[in-house]
Amino acid sequence: MSKEYIPYHVPFPTHHLGLEFVKEVLLSGKTAGNQIHSLACKKILLSNFHGEQKFLTTSCTSALEFSALLASVEPGDHVILPSYTFPSTANAFLLRGATLSFVDSMPNSPNMDLDAVEELISSKTKVLCVMHYAGISLDWEKIKALKATYNLTIIEDAAQCIDAYYVNNDIDYPLGSLGDFGALSFHETKNISCGEGGLLLVNNQEYIEKAEVMYEKGTNRASFLRQESAFYEWKSIGSSYTLSEINAAILHGQLLQKSEINKMRHAIWNSYNLAFENFSVPYVPVYAKHNAHIFYLQLASTSESVEFIEYMQKKGIQTLSHYRPLHSSSFFNDKHDGRILKNAQHFSDTLVRLPIHQEVNVNRVIETALDFFN
Ligand SMILES: *Cc1c(COP(=O)(O)O)cnc(C)c1O
Repeated sequence: MSKEYIPYHVPFPTHHLGLEFVKEVLLSGKTAGNQIHSLACKKILLSNFHGEQKFLTTSCTSALEFSALLASVEPGDHVILPSYTFPSTANAFLLRGATLSFVDSMPNSPNMDLDAVEELISSKTKVLCVMHYAGISLDWEKIKALKATYNLTIIEDAAQCIDAYYVNNDIDYPLGSLGDFGALSFHETKNISCGEGGLLLVNNQEYIEKAEVMYEKGTNRASFLRQESAFYEWKSIGSSYTLSEINAAILHGQLLQKSEINKMRHAIWNSYNLAFENFSVPYVPVYAKHNAHIFYLQLASTSESVEFIEYMQKKGIQTLSHYRPLHSSSFFNDKHDGRILKNAQHFSDTLVRLPIHQEVNVNRVIETALDFFN
């Protein structure tokens, strides 16, 4: 039996397509962005995301920063967001001078506790930023109710959510398409990747013109290219978010293999789910159709999870814990309002992710893990 090392993540190999497409881009000299492969990516993404305007970006981080600009977040504005997430979720708003309130996870899920949001809302609250951990949807009915009552702008950090859905009345709504804005990631570590890349979905029609200008470094270049104006000029604040055509070519190759990637990931996720049915594993509510981005076990304590990770590593299998809560980080701790967010801390202490990729020997991972517990 081969005992090769199993890393936590290996991107799906799409070199045959990617090399061809990248070569094409280099030979064409059209390397900047928004060329053939960017358009092809957007066309494929159309089947996931319908009428919304799509902007390919250099990362999910830049898509989140773009959304904060679009939402006109300004110094003094208040933003509510989960603690159990990646720093980019928070940086996007801190960069605009907002004050932040972090929300705890639920007891049975790393996802944010939407029932804890209302008591944090003040007249200064402008944005509720939500994050669907592991591509497992939050309860959209609750988000809708908060938006309607308090007139909040909803931004979805849907970094992990390509091909993940919120289900209501048998209709699948892609994550990232429900808020005013949704940000996705195509980072190397995500299900579909192009090294560094992202996507901003602008779902609220009100913002589309503004988004076009900000995306073009604050100019009306997009309308100029459509020959709607004779020249283009500086119209507003903006920045450079465009994904280079070289990355788009790689992304195009990946997107063409999307269904194979999904099938492979779900098969592994389902095997884990079955093998570990007596363990604490991801909770998937009826309204969530996930994308097998992450499978985790929750261990009894910090020390047990550290021992588990070390044991698996010794057996040649890389497993990983995940986020350190943002509210109690060394950077934010003294700015936090002091509320104790015990579930976020608990997931930080006890959650361990198992590898999901095409090179995983699933039975070996399962047997090794079960050996640890026995
Ligand atoms: C990966 C990730 C990001 C950052 O994505 P980049 O494309 O690397 O900028 C942000 N938020 C969450 C929840 C993520 O998982």
